[in-house]
Amino acid sequence: MTPVVETRGLVKRYEEDIAVAGIDLRVGPGEIYGLVGPNGAGKTTTMRILATLLAPTAGEAYVTGIPVTADPIEVRRRIGYMPDFYGVYDDLRVWEYLDFFGRCYGIPSARRVRMIDELLEIVALGAKREAYVESLSRGMRQRLCLAHTLVHDPALLILDEPASGLDPRARVEMREILRELRSMGKTILVSSHILPELGELCTGVAIIDHGRVLRSGSISEIEQSLRASAVLRVELLGDAASIAAAETWLRNDRRVSDVLPAEAGALGDVTALEVSFDGPPDAQADLLRTMIDAGHRVVGFSQATTDLEEIFLKVTGQHTEEAVA
Ligand code: ATP
Repeated sequence: MTPVVETRGLVKRYEEDIAVAGIDLRVGPGEIYGLVGPNGAGKTTTMRILATLLAPTAGEAYVTGIPVTADPIEVRRRIGYMPDFYGVYDDLRVWEYLDFFGRCYGIPSARRVRMIDELLEIVALGAKREAYVESLSRGMRQRLCLAHTLVHDPALLILDEPASGLDPRARVEMREILRELRSMGKTILVSSHILPELGELCTGVAIIDHGRVLRSGSISEIEQSLRASAVLRVELLGDAASIAAAETWLRNDRRVSDVLPAEAGALGDVTALEVSFDGPPDAQADLLRTMIDAGHRVVGFSQATTDLEEIFLKVTGQHTEEAVA
């Protein structure tokens, strides 16, 4: 099946900076795909290239199989783009705002009236039909902007940080609208610098930093790939000397890259250590058995849980360490 979004070796270079350094993406029909990365990672640049607003320095980008550089007019018919910073025309009523863009797209007046009602219902602004745009809250404006991207019924929505600056309730509302749009058959490419925000929404994500994709796939695939290097919490019984001996023993295992005291520190006679261990669960079981065989008094052995924020920091942090090394 032709992907809705495909980039191959996408590069965007500015004089001093390389904003996008070879990005490969593949987003299938009906997906909600997240581009996640810290500020300056290259998300906006990638989206602007796909939205035909910026020419890449090298590489290829396609929307529904159409090359963005060779056929931008056709691509624009198929996309709705919501930039991270946008202006709205304040002195218009909500319905007039959408009507204006409907006219720009040459939609006949009878269809425009129906379309405006449908769009306002989707973005939950039906009650604000007659309100002036300037009277809307930030969350409402963001939803109105989303309605604007839908006017010409595009197959792909490219949404650059649509939830930025919104309060928690407005973020939830935005997510619900995106889910509904997906159920209507839209494919959505959405960016954020917060992985947990996209985690439960997206069918797939690409974690981007310094213009490169560091990890991609479903959140669970990414979690899985990180599980190979787990952080284990090992709780030990004993005095300072026996804890030091256990630390030395652990450090002698070539799969252990680091041993740190756990945040909670000593709990009575029990000391917790955080052990960075490069191995799957059966190797972890093996470590536990040999540790006990060696005489260390293990009273707790578990994998430190990673939440999505930790995954994000881990992936982007690993990359920074590699760059420094
Ligand atoms: P943010 O979350 O802050 O919006 P981003 O992931 O969207 O970040 P980009 O806006 O794509 O990142 O920027 C990527 C890099 O390219 C940054 O280092 C930025 O400074 C640089 N950059 C972007 N636009 C230009 C430009 N017009 N001229 C020079 N450098 C630019």
